[in-house]
Amino acid sequence: MSEVSDSGVDWTIVGQGLAGTCLAWQLWERGVDFQIIDRECGIAASRVAAGLVNPVTGKNFEPSPMIGEFLPEALDLYRRVEERLEVVLWHPMPIMRLAGNDDEWAKMQVKAARADVEVWVGRELAKQDGWAGGFEIRGGGRFDVKMFVDLSREFFQAEGIYRKSEAAFDRDVKARVWCDGAAGLVSGMHGEARCAKGEILTVRAADWDESFIRVGAGGWLVPVGAGCFKLGSTYEWERLDMEPSEAGMERLRRIAMKLGGADFEIVAHEAGVRPILRRSEPLIGPMEAGGWMFNGLGSKGSLYAPGMARRLALWMLDGVEPEGHFDIRVFRKQL
Ligand SMILES: Cc1cc2nc3c(=O)[nH]c(=O)nc-3n(C[C@H](O)[C@H](O)[C@H](O)COP(=O)(O)OP(=O)(O)OC[C@H]3O[C@@H](n4cnc5c(N)ncnc54)[C@H](O)[C@@H]3O)c2cc1C
Repeated sequence: MSEVSDSGVDWTIVGQGLAGTCLAWQLWERGVDFQIIDRECGIAASRVAAGLVNPVTGKNFEPSPMIGEFLPEALDLYRRVEERLEVVLWHPMPIMRLAGNDDEWAKMQVKAARADVEVWVGRELAKQDGWAGGFEIRGGGRFDVKMFVDLSREFFQAEGIYRKSEAAFDRDVKARVWCDGAAGLVSGMHGEARCAKGEILTVRAADWDESFIRVGAGGWLVPVGAGCFKLGSTYEWERLDMEPSEAGMERLRRIAMKLGGADFEIVAHEAGVRPILRRSEPLIGPMEAGGWMFNGLGSKGSLYAPGMARRLALWMLDGVEPEGHFDIRVFRKQL
């Protein structure tokens, strides 16, 4: 299946965040004729994401849906891009998941015995520093989203595939693949959405242990090298701007104190907007107005973007439809 646009290429990817970049690699590896455009400003989440991949997440200590399929697929694409670009993007690391109180710890212990959770759970952590307990989680790590997006952009630019441009919705519609993240969702062009602004700190702390990721107290602390850590994150559903706020800073400081300690220096305070349609489960498919869409990566873009990009490429190019669960048309009918 191929669409022909008046821009002279078969396909145009609109938006080169995590979604558009993963789709671009899928098309490039298949030798497809395409271009990528991005307006290079706005509320992109991929510019600030910590890239944490945590197999068992949330208050409910649940494995991410279909992680057994999506994680190997993500690591596979990331490894291929690492080889091509000669960089390291994926940093596997143990995750220390800490329970803030006895109730949470009791729930985690029950869940940890379940077969689909047990596979990710390592040793039990001793009670310490005000934590009620904890488990080591295996199989996770940090994906360097910003480096992936930036270096991929340089690569596609050198190939003559990438250019800076703003897409207007009324031209070339059939051949467009909208990977426009929260900007597209906030504009309303993909229907109802519930995006969430997130604030994140980069901190320097010479004495904090850099050999593992900490998750607890409603936040996370991710080592990024050279004594620095990404620390996050906040959720705000009303004000969807890119401005770091005082309230956000306060919340992040409290997470820092709890997960790391008092001795740290703030290097950066940033904000972005997570594209959310249905929790952190992405959706793909043809749009009523023409063209295709890939959006809704939520808080778990690093885990789901590669697998979803492959499914979308198969659908666009070969007509192979994905599981109905990921089909934007099915989702819209259920609303
Ligand atoms: C603070 C914070 C922390 C996060 N931490 C993590 C984490 O630890 N792990 C994780 O997996 N995920 C994390 N996320 C989520 C992750 O960042 C997102 O899931 C992911 O980056 C979304 O990628 P995207 O490509 O869909 O959207 P975006 O990154 O928003 O990219 C969309 C792109 O489209 C472009 N664009 C939009 N409209 C147009 C137009 N009309 N014309 C041209 N270009 C256009 C934009 O310029 C942008 O570059 C975090 C998010 C935030 C905000």
